[in-house]
Amino acid sequence: MVIATKPEQKVKIGATKLLIDNQWVESISGKRFETINPATGEVICDVAEADAADVDRAVAAARKAFARGSEWREMSATRRGELLYKLADLIEANKEELARLETLDNGKPIQESLNSDLPLVIGCYRYYAGWADKIQGKTIPIQGNYFCYTRHEPVGVVGQIIPWNFPLLMQAWKLAPALAAGNTVVLKTAEQTPLSALRVGELILEAGFPPGVVNILSGFGPTAGAAIARHMDIDKVAFTGSTEVGKLIMEAAAKSNLKRVTLELGGKSPNIIFADADIDQAVEGAHNALFFNQGQCCCAGSRVFVEADFYDEFVAKTVARAKKRIVGDPFDLNTGQGPQVSQEQFDRVMGYVELGMRDGANLLCGGKPVGDKGYFIQPTVFEVEDEMTIAREEIFGPVMSIMKFNNIDELIDRANDSIYGLAAAVWTKDINKAQTIANNVRAGTVWVNCYDVFDAAAPFGGFKQSGMGRELGEYGLQQYTEVKTITVKL
Ligand code: ADP
Repeated sequence: MVIATKPEQKVKIGATKLLIDNQWVESISGKRFETINPATGEVICDVAEADAADVDRAVAAARKAFARGSEWREMSATRRGELLYKLADLIEANKEELARLETLDNGKPIQESLNSDLPLVIGCYRYYAGWADKIQGKTIPIQGNYFCYTRHEPVGVVGQIIPWNFPLLMQAWKLAPALAAGNTVVLKTAEQTPLSALRVGELILEAGFPPGVVNILSGFGPTAGAAIARHMDIDKVAFTGSTEVGKLIMEAAAKSNLKRVTLELGGKSPNIIFADADIDQAVEGAHNALFFNQGQCCCAGSRVFVEADFYDEFVAKTVARAKKRIVGDPFDLNTGQGPQVSQEQFDRVMGYVELGMRDGANLLCGGKPVGDKGYFIQPTVFEVEDEMTIAREEIFGPVMSIMKFNNIDELIDRANDSIYGLAAAVWTKDINKAQTIANNVRAGTVWVNCYDVFDAAAPFGGFKQSGMGRELGEYGLQQYTEVKTITVKL
Protein backbone atom coordinates (compact mmCIF):
# COMPACT_ATOMS: atom_id res chain seq x y z
CA MET A 1 0.00 0.00 0.00
CA VAL A 2 1.17 3.52 -0.71
CA ILE A 3 -0.05 6.47 1.32
CA ALA A 4 0.26 9.93 -0.16
CA THR A 5 0.61 12.59 2.52
CA LYS A 6 1.19 15.17 -0.20
CA PRO A 7 1.33 14.44 -3.91
CA GLU A 8 5.13 14.32 -3.80
CA GLN A 9 5.43 12.33 -0.56
CA LYS A 10 4.50 8.71 -1.02
CA VAL A 11 5.12 6.23 1.78
CA LYS A 12 5.28 2.51 1.16
CA ILE A 13 3.74 0.37 3.91
CA GLY A 14 5.48 -2.97 4.45
CA ALA A 15 4.28 -6.01 6.37
CA THR A 16 1.23 -5.73 8.65
CA LYS A 17 1.11 -9.26 10.08
CA LEU A 18 3.00 -10.83 12.98
CA LEU A 19 6.50 -12.18 12.37
CA ILE A 20 6.74 -15.60 14.05
CA ASP A 21 9.28 -18.29 13.13
CA ASN A 22 10.22 -16.34 9.96
CA GLN A 23 6.59 -16.44 8.74
CA TRP A 24 4.15 -13.56 8.41
CA VAL A 25 1.00 -14.75 10.14
CA GLU A 26 -2.34 -13.34 11.26
CA SER A 27 -3.03 -13.42 14.99
CA ILE A 28 -4.75 -16.53 16.36
CA SER A 29 -7.81 -14.45 17.27
CA GLY A 30 -7.84 -12.93 13.77
CA LYS A 31 -8.04 -9.48 15.36
CA ARG A 32 -6.41 -6.43 13.79
CA PHE A 33 -6.11 -2.84 15.02
CA GLU A 34 -5.70 0.51 13.33
CA THR A 35 -2.66 2.72 13.42
CA ILE A 36 -3.24 6.45 13.08
CA ASN A 37 -1.34 9.22 11.30
CA PRO A 38 -0.88 11.75 14.13
CA ALA A 39 -0.53 14.65 11.70
CA THR A 40 -4.10 14.15 10.44
CA GLY A 41 -5.85 11.84 12.91
CA GLU A 42 -6.67 9.54 9.97
CA VAL A 43 -6.19 5.77 9.84
CA ILE A 44 -3.04 4.68 7.98
CA CYS A 45 -3.83 0.96 7.90
CA ASP A 46 -4.52 -1.90 10.27
CA VAL A 47 -2.12 -4.52 11.60
CA ALA A 48 -2.50 -7.95 13.17
CA GLU A 49 -3.10 -7.75 16.93
CA ALA A 50 -1.16 -10.21 19.06
CA ASP A 51 -2.41 -11.35 22.45
CA ALA A 52 -1.32 -14.00 24.95
CA ALA A 53 -1.86 -16.92 22.54
CA ASP A 54 0.38 -15.32 19.92
CA VAL A 55 3.01 -14.59 22.57
CA ASP A 56 2.96 -18.33 23.42
CA ARG A 57 3.45 -19.18 19.78
CA ALA A 58 6.31 -16.69 19.37
CA VAL A 59 8.00 -17.88 22.58
CA ALA A 60 7.78 -21.50 21.39
CA ALA A 61 9.49 -20.49 18.12
CA ALA A 62 12.17 -18.53 20.00
CA ARG A 63 12.71 -21.47 22.37
CA LYS A 64 13.11 -23.87 19.49
CA ALA A 65 15.59 -21.50 17.83
CA PHE A 66 17.56 -21.37 21.09
CA ALA A 67 17.60 -25.16 21.58
CA ARG A 68 20.88 -27.04 21.76
CA GLY A 69 21.99 -28.02 18.27
CA SER A 70 19.82 -25.42 16.49
CA GLU A 71 21.19 -23.46 13.55
CA TRP A 72 21.48 -20.33 15.70
CA ARG A 73 23.24 -22.09 18.58
CA GLU A 74 25.64 -23.84 16.23
CA MET A 75 26.39 -20.66 14.32
CA SER A 76 29.82 -19.10 14.87
CA ALA A 77 29.93 -15.79 16.69
CA THR A 78 31.59 -14.26 13.62
CA ARG A 79 28.66 -15.33 11.45
CA ARG A 80 26.20 -13.80 13.94
CA GLY A 81 28.12 -10.56 13.55
CA GLU A 82 27.95 -10.84 9.78
CA LEU A 83 24.17 -11.19 9.90
CA LEU A 84 23.94 -8.03 12.00
CA TYR A 85 26.22 -6.18 9.56
CA LYS A 86 24.02 -7.38 6.73
CA LEU A 87 20.92 -6.09 8.51
CA ALA A 88 22.62 -2.71 9.05
CA ASP A 89 23.48 -2.57 5.33
CA LEU A 90 19.89 -3.39 4.35
CA ILE A 91 18.53 -0.71 6.69
CA GLU A 92 20.98 1.77 5.20
CA ALA A 93 19.95 0.82 1.66
CA ASN A 94 16.29 1.44 2.63
CA LYS A 95 16.84 4.38 4.91
CA GLU A 96 14.75 7.01 3.10
CA GLU A 97 11.80 4.63 2.94
CA LEU A 98 12.16 3.69 6.63
CA ALA A 99 12.45 7.35 7.63
CA ARG A 100 9.23 8.18 5.78
CA LEU A 101 7.41 5.28 7.41
CA GLU A 102 8.64 6.42 10.84
CA THR A 103 7.46 9.97 10.19
CA LEU A 104 4.07 8.79 8.93
CA ASP A 105 3.36 6.56 11.94
CA ASN A 106 5.04 8.61 14.70
CA GLY A 107 4.75 12.20 13.44
CA LYS A 108 8.40 13.18 13.95
CA PRO A 109 9.84 15.57 11.36
CA ILE A 110 11.29 13.79 8.35
CA GLN A 111 14.63 15.57 8.65
CA GLU A 112 14.97 14.07 12.15
CA SER A 113 13.90 10.56 11.13
CA LEU A 114 16.39 10.67 8.31
CA ASN A 115 19.31 12.53 9.85
CA SER A 116 19.05 11.57 13.50
CA ASP A 117 17.11 8.32 14.06
CA LEU A 118 18.28 6.32 11.06
CA PRO A 119 22.04 6.99 11.47
CA LEU A 120 21.78 6.00 15.15
CA VAL A 121 19.84 2.85 14.22
CA ILE A 122 22.40 1.79 11.62
CA GLY A 123 25.27 2.69 13.98
CA CYS A 124 23.76 0.58 16.75
CA TYR A 125 23.46 -2.57 14.60
CA ARG A 126 27.01 -2.09 13.31
CA TYR A 127 28.42 -1.44 16.78
CA TYR A 128 26.97 -4.66 18.20
CA ALA A 129 27.79 -6.62 15.03
CA GLY A 130 31.41 -5.91 15.92
CA TRP A 131 30.91 -7.24 19.46
CA ALA A 132 29.49 -10.63 18.43
CA ASP A 133 32.87 -12.41 18.29
CA LYS A 134 34.50 -10.37 21.06
CA ILE A 135 32.38 -11.57 23.97
CA GLN A 136 34.92 -13.21 26.24
CA GLY A 137 35.17 -14.65 29.72
CA LYS A 138 38.17 -14.59 32.03
CA THR A 139 40.58 -17.06 33.56
CA ILE A 140 40.54 -16.74 37.34
CA PRO A 141 43.43 -17.63 39.67
CA ILE A 142 41.47 -19.44 42.41
CA GLN A 143 43.26 -21.23 45.26
CA GLY A 144 44.23 -24.89 44.80
CA ASN A 145 45.10 -26.93 41.79
CA TYR A 146 42.24 -25.89 39.56
CA PHE A 147 41.69 -24.18 36.25
CA CYS A 148 38.83 -21.72 36.71
CA TYR A 149 37.31 -19.69 33.90
CA THR A 150 34.10 -17.92 32.94
CA ARG A 151 31.94 -18.10 29.84
CA HIS A 152 29.54 -15.30 28.91
CA GLU A 153 26.57 -17.21 27.56
CA PRO A 154 23.32 -15.85 26.10
CA VAL A 155 20.50 -15.50 28.63
CA GLY A 156 18.08 -17.43 26.37
CA VAL A 157 14.68 -16.31 25.13
CA VAL A 158 14.36 -12.56 25.65
CA GLY A 159 11.09 -10.61 25.69
CA GLN A 160 11.44 -6.99 24.63
CA ILE A 161 8.76 -4.31 24.97
CA ILE A 162 9.42 -0.97 23.31
CA PRO A 163 7.78 2.46 23.26
CA TRP A 164 6.52 4.70 20.46
CA ASN A 165 8.82 7.74 20.76
CA PHE A 166 11.76 6.27 18.79
CA PRO A 167 10.30 3.07 17.28
CA LEU A 168 13.21 2.10 15.03
CA LEU A 169 15.90 3.20 17.45
CA MET A 170 14.37 1.40 20.43
CA GLN A 171 14.08 -1.72 18.28
CA ALA A 172 17.79 -1.41 17.46
CA TRP A 173 18.83 -0.81 21.09
CA LYS A 174 16.95 -3.98 22.03
CA LEU A 175 17.64 -6.35 19.13
CA ALA A 176 21.28 -5.56 18.39
CA PRO A 177 22.89 -6.49 21.75
CA ALA A 178 20.50 -9.42 22.30
CA LEU A 179 21.38 -10.96 18.93
CA ALA A 180 25.11 -10.18 19.18
CA ALA A 181 25.15 -12.17 22.43
CA GLY A 182 23.29 -15.11 20.84
CA ASN A 183 19.83 -14.78 22.41
CA THR A 184 16.52 -15.28 20.63
CA VAL A 185 13.88 -12.57 20.84
CA VAL A 186 10.15 -11.89 21.07
CA LEU A 187 9.78 -8.14 20.55
CA LYS A 188 6.51 -6.25 21.05
CA THR A 189 6.22 -2.80 19.53
CA ALA A 190 4.09 0.02 20.91
CA GLU A 191 0.50 -0.01 19.69
CA GLN A 192 0.82 3.60 18.44
CA THR A 193 3.74 2.84 16.09
CA PRO A 194 3.88 -0.73 14.75
CA LEU A 195 4.87 -0.09 11.12
CA SER A 196 8.60 0.60 10.92
CA ALA A 197 9.55 -2.38 13.12
CA LEU A 198 7.57 -4.67 10.81
CA ARG A 199 9.45 -3.31 7.79
CA VAL A 200 12.69 -4.10 9.63
CA GLY A 201 11.24 -7.59 10.14
CA GLU A 202 11.18 -7.97 6.36
CA LEU A 203 14.83 -6.92 6.24
CA ILE A 204 15.66 -9.41 9.02
CA LEU A 205 14.28 -12.17 6.80
CA GLU A 206 16.25 -10.82 3.84
CA ALA A 207 19.45 -10.75 5.92
CA GLY A 208 19.06 -14.48 6.59
CA PHE A 209 18.51 -14.86 10.34
CA PRO A 210 17.32 -18.44 11.08
CA PRO A 211 13.62 -19.07 11.88
CA GLY A 212 12.49 -18.11 15.38
CA VAL A 213 15.53 -15.97 16.24
CA VAL A 214 13.59 -12.71 15.88
CA ASN A 215 9.82 -12.63 16.37
CA ILE A 216 7.99 -9.30 16.10
CA LEU A 217 4.51 -8.74 17.51
CA SER A 218 2.22 -5.72 17.24
CA GLY A 219 -0.19 -5.49 20.14
CA PHE A 220 -1.31 -3.74 23.29
CA GLY A 221 0.38 -3.53 26.69
CA PRO A 222 -2.16 -5.11 29.04
CA THR A 223 -2.62 -8.11 26.68
CA ALA A 224 0.50 -8.96 24.65
CA GLY A 225 2.90 -6.92 26.84
CA ALA A 226 1.66 -8.41 30.10
CA ALA A 227 1.79 -11.92 28.59
CA ILE A 228 5.49 -11.39 27.87
CA ALA A 229 6.21 -10.03 31.37
CA ARG A 230 4.62 -13.03 33.11
CA HIS A 231 5.66 -15.75 30.65
CA MET A 232 7.21 -18.79 32.32
CA ASP A 233 9.43 -19.60 29.36
CA ILE A 234 10.98 -16.16 28.81
CA ASP A 235 14.38 -15.80 30.51
CA LYS A 236 14.66 -12.03 30.49
CA VAL A 237 12.46 -9.04 29.77
CA ALA A 238 13.84 -5.72 28.58
CA PHE A 239 11.41 -2.82 28.74
CA THR A 240 11.44 0.85 27.79
CA GLY A 241 8.43 2.95 28.76
CA SER A 242 6.76 4.60 31.72
CA THR A 243 7.87 4.06 35.33
CA GLU A 244 4.35 2.96 36.17
CA VAL A 245 4.41 0.10 33.64
CA GLY A 246 8.05 -0.69 34.54
CA LYS A 247 6.86 -1.51 38.06
CA LEU A 248 4.17 -3.83 36.65
CA ILE A 249 6.78 -5.60 34.53
CA MET A 250 9.05 -6.14 37.50
CA GLU A 251 6.19 -7.40 39.62
CA ALA A 252 5.09 -9.83 36.90
CA ALA A 253 8.67 -11.06 36.49
CA ALA A 254 8.99 -11.59 40.24
CA LYS A 255 5.67 -13.43 40.48
CA SER A 256 6.33 -15.70 37.50
CA ASN A 257 9.79 -17.16 36.94
CA LEU A 258 12.08 -14.41 38.28
CA LYS A 259 13.16 -13.60 34.74
CA ARG A 260 15.93 -11.03 34.47
CA VAL A 261 14.61 -7.50 34.14
CA THR A 262 16.14 -4.40 32.61
CA LEU A 263 14.13 -1.20 32.57
CA GLU A 264 14.59 2.18 30.93
CA LEU A 265 11.87 4.42 32.36
CA GLY A 266 10.79 8.00 32.83
CA GLY A 267 12.73 11.11 33.70
CA LYS A 268 12.52 14.73 34.76
CA SER A 269 16.03 15.73 33.90
CA PRO A 270 17.65 18.87 35.34
CA ASN A 271 19.32 21.11 32.78
CA ILE A 272 21.55 23.52 34.70
CA ILE A 273 22.62 26.84 33.22
CA PHE A 274 25.33 28.86 34.99
CA ALA A 275 25.77 32.58 34.39
CA ASP A 276 29.21 32.01 32.86
CA ALA A 277 27.83 29.77 30.08
CA ASP A 278 27.93 30.85 26.46
CA ILE A 279 24.46 32.36 26.33
CA ASP A 280 23.57 31.50 22.76
CA GLN A 281 24.86 27.96 23.08
CA ALA A 282 22.94 27.47 26.34
CA VAL A 283 19.68 28.88 24.96
CA GLU A 284 19.87 26.73 21.82
CA GLY A 285 21.01 23.72 23.83
CA ALA A 286 18.20 24.01 26.37
CA HIS A 287 15.67 24.54 23.58
CA ASN A 288 16.68 21.35 21.78
CA ALA A 289 17.08 19.42 25.04
CA LEU A 290 13.39 19.92 25.74
CA PHE A 291 11.65 20.33 22.39
CA PHE A 292 13.49 17.63 20.42
CA ASN A 293 11.09 14.89 19.26
CA GLN A 294 8.05 16.98 20.32
CA GLY A 295 9.31 16.76 23.92
CA GLN A 296 8.71 13.01 23.81
CA CYS A 297 12.09 11.93 25.17
CA CYS A 298 12.60 10.12 28.46
CA CYS A 299 15.75 12.22 28.95
CA ALA A 300 14.18 15.57 27.95
CA GLY A 301 15.76 18.51 29.81
CA SER A 302 12.44 19.40 31.39
CA ARG A 303 13.62 21.14 34.57
CA VAL A 304 15.72 24.10 33.48
CA PHE A 305 17.60 25.67 36.41
CA VAL A 306 19.08 29.08 35.56
CA GLU A 307 21.52 31.05 37.73
CA ALA A 308 19.98 34.28 39.03
CA ASP A 309 22.38 36.75 37.33
CA PHE A 310 21.63 35.26 33.96
CA TYR A 311 17.98 34.53 34.49
CA ASP A 312 16.16 37.41 32.78
CA GLU A 313 18.30 37.34 29.68
CA PHE A 314 18.06 33.56 29.40
CA VAL A 315 14.28 33.56 29.81
CA ALA A 316 13.78 36.30 27.21
CA LYS A 317 15.97 34.54 24.66
CA THR A 318 14.43 31.14 25.40
CA VAL A 319 10.91 32.45 24.86
CA ALA A 320 11.95 34.15 21.62
CA ARG A 321 13.54 30.90 20.45
CA ALA A 322 10.47 28.81 21.31
CA LYS A 323 8.23 31.22 19.38
CA LYS A 324 10.41 30.74 16.31
CA ARG A 325 10.06 26.95 16.33
CA ILE A 326 8.26 25.79 13.20
CA VAL A 327 5.35 23.47 14.03
CA GLY A 328 3.63 21.71 11.17
CA ASP A 329 3.57 19.01 8.52
CA PRO A 330 6.29 16.56 9.55
CA PHE A 331 7.02 15.84 5.89
CA ASP A 332 7.97 19.48 5.29
CA LEU A 333 11.77 19.80 5.44
CA ASN A 334 11.53 23.09 7.35
CA THR A 335 9.43 21.65 10.16
CA GLY A 336 11.09 21.49 13.57
CA GLN A 337 8.13 20.07 15.46
CA GLY A 338 5.46 17.63 14.33
CA PRO A 339 2.36 16.40 16.18
CA GLN A 340 2.31 14.50 19.48
CA VAL A 341 2.01 10.80 18.77
CA SER A 342 -1.66 10.29 19.68
CA GLN A 343 -4.87 11.88 20.89
CA GLU A 344 -4.16 10.38 24.32
CA GLN A 345 -0.73 12.00 24.53
CA PHE A 346 -2.11 15.30 23.22
CA ASP A 347 -4.79 15.27 25.94
CA ARG A 348 -2.24 14.36 28.59
CA VAL A 349 0.10 17.21 27.66
CA MET A 350 -2.74 19.75 27.41
CA GLY A 351 -3.92 18.53 30.82
CA TYR A 352 -0.52 19.40 32.28
CA VAL A 353 -0.61 22.84 30.66
CA GLU A 354 -3.98 23.53 32.32
CA LEU A 355 -2.72 22.15 35.63
CA GLY A 356 0.32 24.43 35.44
CA MET A 357 -1.91 27.47 34.99
CA ARG A 358 -4.22 26.38 37.81
CA ASP A 359 -1.19 25.95 40.10
CA GLY A 360 -0.08 29.51 39.34
CA ALA A 361 2.86 28.78 37.03
CA ASN A 362 3.69 31.75 34.80
CA LEU A 363 2.96 30.89 31.16
CA LEU A 364 5.52 32.73 29.02
CA CYS A 365 4.53 31.39 25.63
CA GLY A 366 2.52 28.66 23.91
CA GLY A 367 0.00 26.55 25.78
CA LYS A 368 -2.43 26.03 22.91
CA PRO A 369 -3.08 23.47 20.19
CA VAL A 370 -1.97 24.28 16.64
CA GLY A 371 -4.36 23.84 13.70
CA ASP A 372 -7.65 22.01 13.60
CA LYS A 373 -6.51 18.48 12.79
CA GLY A 374 -3.74 16.27 14.09
CA TYR A 375 -2.19 16.46 17.54
CA PHE A 376 -0.05 19.60 17.31
CA ILE A 377 0.82 21.72 20.39
CA GLN A 378 2.59 25.09 20.56
CA PRO A 379 6.08 25.10 22.07
CA THR A 380 5.28 26.09 25.65
CA VAL A 381 7.46 27.72 28.31
CA PHE A 382 6.53 28.18 31.99
CA GLU A 383 8.26 29.83 34.94
CA VAL A 384 7.59 27.49 37.84
CA GLU A 385 8.29 26.73 41.50
CA ASP A 386 10.00 23.45 42.39
CA GLU A 387 7.00 21.95 44.16
CA MET A 388 4.48 22.47 41.33
CA THR A 389 3.23 19.28 39.69
CA ILE A 390 4.42 20.35 36.22
CA ALA A 391 7.93 20.76 37.68
CA ARG A 392 7.87 17.28 39.21
CA GLU A 393 5.97 14.92 36.90
CA GLU A 394 7.05 13.77 33.47
CA ILE A 395 4.97 15.63 30.86
CA PHE A 396 6.43 14.02 27.72
CA GLY A 397 5.51 16.97 25.54
CA PRO A 398 6.73 20.38 24.37
CA VAL A 399 6.46 22.05 27.78
CA MET A 400 9.53 23.63 29.40
CA SER A 401 9.68 24.54 33.10
CA ILE A 402 12.24 27.19 34.13
CA MET A 403 13.43 27.81 37.70
CA LYS A 404 15.95 30.25 39.22
CA PHE A 405 18.89 29.31 41.47
CA ASN A 406 21.36 31.30 43.55
CA ASN A 407 24.16 28.94 44.56
CA ILE A 408 25.54 25.56 43.63
CA ASP A 409 24.85 23.73 46.93
CA GLU A 410 21.20 24.68 46.99
CA LEU A 411 21.01 23.82 43.32
CA ILE A 412 22.40 20.29 43.65
CA ASP A 413 19.84 19.41 46.34
CA ARG A 414 17.03 20.80 44.21
CA ALA A 415 18.26 19.03 41.07
CA ASN A 416 18.34 15.74 42.97
CA ASP A 417 14.92 16.25 44.55
CA SER A 418 13.15 13.96 42.08
CA ILE A 419 12.07 10.34 41.96
CA TYR A 420 13.90 10.16 38.62
CA GLY A 421 17.59 10.04 37.72
CA LEU A 422 17.95 9.44 34.01
CA ALA A 423 19.96 12.38 32.69
CA ALA A 424 21.22 15.85 33.55
CA ALA A 425 23.19 18.58 31.85
CA VAL A 426 25.28 21.55 32.89
CA TRP A 427 26.24 24.60 30.86
CA THR A 428 29.29 26.54 32.11
CA LYS A 429 32.81 27.55 31.06
CA ASP A 430 34.12 26.64 34.53
CA ILE A 431 35.49 23.09 34.58
CA ASN A 432 35.23 22.92 38.38
CA LYS A 433 31.54 23.73 38.38
CA ALA A 434 30.96 21.25 35.58
CA GLN A 435 32.76 18.50 37.50
CA THR A 436 30.99 19.29 40.76
CA ILE A 437 27.63 18.95 39.04
CA ALA A 438 28.66 15.88 37.07
CA ASN A 439 29.83 14.10 40.23
CA ASN A 440 26.94 15.07 42.48
CA VAL A 441 23.86 14.86 40.32
CA ARG A 442 22.23 11.45 40.70
CA ALA A 443 21.66 10.57 37.07
CA GLY A 444 22.81 7.88 34.64
CA THR A 445 24.06 10.36 32.05
CA VAL A 446 25.43 13.88 32.51
CA TRP A 447 26.09 16.08 29.49
CA VAL A 448 28.44 19.06 29.84
CA ASN A 449 27.84 21.94 27.39
CA CYS A 450 25.86 19.59 25.16
CA TYR A 451 22.68 17.51 25.29
CA ASP A 452 21.26 14.34 23.75
CA VAL A 453 24.66 13.21 22.50
CA PHE A 454 24.05 9.51 21.89
CA ASP A 455 26.45 6.91 20.61
CA ALA A 456 26.00 3.14 20.51
CA ALA A 457 29.26 2.82 22.45
CA ALA A 458 28.19 4.99 25.42
CA PRO A 459 25.96 3.37 28.07
CA PHE A 460 22.58 4.89 28.88
CA GLY A 461 20.17 4.18 31.73
CA GLY A 462 18.74 5.46 34.95
CA PHE A 463 19.42 5.95 38.63
CA LYS A 464 16.45 5.74 41.03
CA GLN A 465 13.02 5.23 39.43
CA SER A 466 14.38 5.93 35.95
CA GLY A 467 15.34 2.30 35.53
CA MET A 468 17.56 -0.68 36.13
CA GLY A 469 20.57 -1.74 34.14
CA ARG A 470 22.13 0.00 31.16
CA GLU A 471 21.66 -0.11 27.43
CA LEU A 472 24.32 0.49 24.76
CA GLY A 473 28.05 -0.01 25.00
CA GLU A 474 29.72 -2.97 26.63
CA TYR A 475 27.56 -2.45 29.75
CA GLY A 476 24.43 -2.95 27.64
CA LEU A 477 25.83 -6.14 26.15
CA GLN A 478 26.51 -7.60 29.60
CA GLN A 479 22.80 -7.43 30.35
CA TYR A 480 22.22 -10.01 27.62
CA THR A 481 24.66 -12.59 28.97
CA GLU A 482 24.77 -14.96 31.90
CA VAL A 483 28.18 -15.55 33.46
CA LYS A 484 29.04 -19.21 33.92
CA THR A 485 31.97 -20.24 36.14
CA ILE A 486 33.72 -23.47 35.20
CA THR A 487 36.22 -25.04 37.58
CA VAL A 488 38.40 -27.91 36.37
CA LYS A 489 40.49 -30.05 38.76
CA LEU A 490 44.00 -30.41 37.43
P1 ADP B 1 3.25 5.39 27.31
O1 ADP B 1 2.38 5.74 28.47
O2 ADP B 1 4.22 6.44 26.96
O3 ADP B 1 2.51 4.85 26.11
P2 ADP B 1 3.84 2.80 28.33
O4 ADP B 1 4.80 2.50 29.42
O5 ADP B 1 2.38 2.66 28.61
O6 ADP B 1 4.20 4.24 27.83
O7 ADP B 1 4.15 1.92 27.04
C1 ADP B 1 5.41 1.45 26.67
C2 ADP B 1 5.29 0.04 26.15
O8 ADP B 1 4.80 -0.78 27.22
C3 ADP B 1 4.31 -0.15 25.00
O9 ADP B 1 4.82 -1.15 24.13
C4 ADP B 1 3.06 -0.65 25.70
O10 ADP B 1 2.22 -1.44 24.87
C5 ADP B 1 3.66 -1.51 26.80
N1 ADP B 1 2.78 -1.71 27.96
C6 ADP B 1 1.81 -0.91 28.44
N2 ADP B 1 1.20 -1.47 29.51
C7 ADP B 1 1.80 -2.66 29.71
C8 ADP B 1 1.62 -3.73 30.66
N3 ADP B 1 0.70 -3.66 31.61
N4 ADP B 1 2.44 -4.81 30.57
C9 ADP B 1 3.38 -4.89 29.61
N5 ADP B 1 3.59 -3.93 28.69
C10 ADP B 1 2.82 -2.83 28.72
